[in-house]
Amino acid sequence: MGLPLTGMTEAEIGELLTGWGESRYRARQVWEWIHRHLASDFGEMTNLPLRLRGRLAGEAVVDSLALVERQAASDGTVKYLFRLQDGETIESVWIPAEDRGTVCVSTQVGCGMGCRFCATALSGLRRNLKAAEIVDQVRLVSRDIGRRVTNVVFMGMGEPLANYEETRRSLLLLHAPAGLNIGWRHLTVSTSGLVPAIRSLAEERLPLTLAVSLHAADNKTRTRLMPINRRYPLEELMPACREWVVKTGRRLTFEYVLISGINDSLRDARRLSRLLAGMLAHVNLIPLNPVSGIGWQAPPSARQEAFARVLQELGIPVTLRQERGAEIDAACGQLRRRRLLEVAAAEV
Ligand code: SAH
Ligand code: SF4
Repeated sequence: MGLPLTGMTEAEIGELLTGWGESRYRARQVWEWIHRHLASDFGEMTNLPLRLRGRLAGEAVVDSLALVERQAASDGTVKYLFRLQDGETIESVWIPAEDRGTVCVSTQVGCGMGCRFCATALSGLRRNLKAAEIVDQVRLVSRDIGRRVTNVVFMGMGEPLANYEETRRSLLLLHAPAGLNIGWRHLTVSTSGLVPAIRSLAEERLPLTLAVSLHAADNKTRTRLMPINRRYPLEELMPACREWVVKTGRRLTFEYVLISGINDSLRDARRLSRLLAGMLAHVNLIPLNPVSGIGWQAPPSARQEAFARVLQELGIPVTLRQERGAEIDAACGQLRRRRLLEVAAAEV
């Protein structure tokens, strides 16, 4: 397996190439082929000498992923299944809008957090992704669509902050102005609430957008939905979130998946408002995308709207996310899961 170049900084590529006796400026050329022109192969890098292209092809790889399947929905959303070099598979999603193009990336194969409503949780954690594998989801989607990616959300499979170093590295690579050049504010990391990692991120003062998956405003309900709440309950999570806001000066997004009869009462909405009162925060309500075998549903839209209205009236900024890509297994982990089930079914 060759060295994955897309996980290396320009300086690191420079070290590698000068170690081979090449001039340092070759690093910029390689970097631009990878991150600007989204090359898939060293053969495309026509301004490099053949000798160097040959050595690179022998010792390194450009793409660390291969496309297995793409599903396009009528609203423009495209879901991708990629194969990694060791045969594992991950998902990414392209979400277009008039003025921006967003890629939703995975950070792990599976996830070890065990949230009860999440398809990814069903496979458990298989492994962390390398930075190259995170960056390549953005490169390959951008190449496939033929559009510049303006936003990246770390909301695919996995818990980004449980893979802290590679997530951090991928953020720096995606942001690099000589490369994909994605602005800090357009990079969103979503976490189930790993308190020490939120504190480390706050210390780094990267002006990215942080989204915390809350899903309940009381410990009993939150523990039922997310076992991680036992380790980091609300009385530890909320101070870490406040500290992040103070240290970065950035507004924090709280995600709240609405599940009928579980966390969607108007009492839940009032409790949520009290929890967030006075905080520089915004709530993103997401109707549950049902996962087969789990049995929970999203509340009817009138209930979703009533929940949002309570927050609004109590002064909490809120958006109710419209469902996108509903016809293409859009919730994270579902395409991969369907594929695994198909493979399992074919084997019996
Ligand atoms: N592990 C991180 C990021 C990946 S999940 C996290 O949990 O925040 C991204 C978002 O999708 C989270 O807010 C998660 O709660 C939500 N999600 C997971 N399963 C879902 C489902 N079936 N329907 C709607 N949202 C879901
Ligand atoms: Fe992991 Fe996020 Fe799914 Fe929870 S919701 S199991 S943290 S991917």
